[in-house]
Amino acid sequence: MSVAPWQREWRDAIRNPASLLERLGLDASLLAPAKRADQLFGLRVPEAFLERMEPGNPADPLLRQVLPVDAEASDTPGFADDPVGDHASLANGGVIHKYRGRALLIATGACAINCRYCFRRHFPYADASASKGQWAEALDYLGGDSSISEVILSGGDPLSLNDRRLGELSEGLVAIPHLRRIRVHSRMPVVLPSRIDDSLIGWLAGTRLTPVMVIHANHPHELDARVAEALQRLARHGVRLYNQAVLLRGVNDDAQTLGELGERLFEIGVQPYYLHLLDRVRGAAHFEVDEREAGELMRALAAVTPGYMLPRLVREVAGEPWKVPIQWATGDGS
Ligand SMILES: *Cc1c(COP(=O)(O)O)cnc(C)c1O
Ligand code: SF4
Repeated sequence: MSVAPWQREWRDAIRNPASLLERLGLDASLLAPAKRADQLFGLRVPEAFLERMEPGNPADPLLRQVLPVDAEASDTPGFADDPVGDHASLANGGVIHKYRGRALLIATGACAINCRYCFRRHFPYADASASKGQWAEALDYLGGDSSISEVILSGGDPLSLNDRRLGELSEGLVAIPHLRRIRVHSRMPVVLPSRIDDSLIGWLAGTRLTPVMVIHANHPHELDARVAEALQRLARHGVRLYNQAVLLRGVNDDAQTLGELGERLFEIGVQPYYLHLLDRVRGAAHFEVDEREAGELMRALAAVTPGYMLPRLVREVAGEPWKVPIQWATGDGS
């Protein structure tokens, strides 16, 4: 099969800390720590995302999401390898069925970008596509439980699979009569917008299942004109679009940035959905914003924002039947 432009861009993503620093004209003193932390979880950033960073700014909010730093090596109590208990659920051919009515399928472990705060940094799954045998097992599971009406393709990033593989998967899904919706959780439209090509749209919008996509952007600078164009094409083809963000220290931990993120998402046709408190994964403690401060931010945001632009502040808690809403309306700290 010929190589699509997005596959070439993905292959050419920057993986070398020295190249990243050089491209952005950043101080060489950042190199030694970046090389150390790169050993823990590899640097990976596609050109299309790097282009949106401000050259010469070591505190750029997009750079902070991808640059390996020494803080990742510190061990902080309460921060674990598998904070939300997903590893334990990896049985069943990659199906994680924790919430009623929807089941999540780990379609692949691969991603186009490596986000430093990600719970995936310690996951044991290979950077390879799920095997066919595993998918058969997943389809059996989904087909055997008629309470499931929505399948969520997640990962990793499910859109790192090529369209032929996605097509094979959805053929199996379409044949399950009780499935009504297909939801894709992907950061691709943001980090590699060329992924949203005709072939992908044909796949996602071309079945009887109602297509939903939940993208992942944390800062308004991530949403440039190319991203907007990709999302608008999805919307024109009937894909419902939502965004989830993670509240990250030094990236989006102020009400003005969160407000602009909501405005920008709305402008390009995406509904703000969740604002997640950080999953407490080992190596990411320096990104954490605690519940009290998150509540203050939400109150400041709500005071100046239309309700429909306000994300829901949530935390994932192992064993709970939903993403747990964080109460922020009163500041009594309870
Ligand atoms: C987050 C998540 C979902 C989706 O939850 P929604 O509230 O419907 O967005 C489904 N299954 C699992 C295992 C999840 O972690
Ligand atoms: S799963 Fe999402 S947050 Fe984690 S590295 Fe991949 S794109 Fe980033």
